[in-house]
Amino acid sequence: MRDPKDDGTISRKRAEVLATARRTVADGLVVGTSGNVSARVGDVVLVTPSGVPYDRLRPEDVVAVGLDGRLLAPGGLTPTSELPLHLAVYRSTDATAIVHTHAVHATAVSTLVTELPPVHYMTAALGGPVRVAPYALYGSDELARHTLTALNGRTGCLLRNHGTLTYGTTLEQAYDRTAQLEWMCRVWLAASGVPGRTPTLLDAGQLAEAGEKLRGYGQGRSD
Ligand code: 13P
Ligand code: ZN
Repeated sequence: MRDPKDDGTISRKRAEVLATARRTVADGLVVGTSGNVSARVGDVVLVTPSGVPYDRLRPEDVVAVGLDGRLLAPGGLTPTSELPLHLAVYRSTDATAIVHTHAVHATAVSTLVTELPPVHYMTAALGGPVRVAPYALYGSDELARHTLTALNGRTGCLLRNHGTLTYGTTLEQAYDRTAQLEWMCRVWLAASGVPGRTPTLLDAGQLAEAGEKLRGYGQGRSD
């Protein structure tokens, strides 16, 4: 739906939400219409519609809601069933983008442990060892509550017998955190599946040191 007050920011963000959702399918992080993506622009939350294949959507089909869940342009598609989860994260964190997937290794790990053992220093990029939120029905307020508890001090978590949720200040960052989380789950499954051997883990000091160094990672200047 076209918003007459939109200066182009909302339209661009809708296109970005859709491109990110399509990428979750293309990269094998979800199958079919599973998962959902959203972004926040001020008091407006842009979310993928429920149950529609992403390749059939146009950017204008991305649904705009208020932080209270009110539809800002009634008459369009129904928003994701995980709207309570996305809104809860926006209300409680500095997130401006959220990616939820059913990535295969992450979902497998969610059935085995209560926290992903810190097998790699990229654990620090998510704020520390990634917790598993207890199971609750998809789309429920209970799942949103469990997820907020699991996210405390973290930018991502696993949802038991369900999948992943990560957030960030850009869609690219939220997406990258999901990809890193899925990759770490894959590493842990590979290492922990070797008969007679137990993976070594990083301690809190090693994770803190890596977290500090990661703040200056890449081409960004810290001075
Ligand atoms: P939606 O199609 O309603 O976004 O649901 C997919 C999903 O992953 C529910 O947890
Ligand atoms: Zn889901």
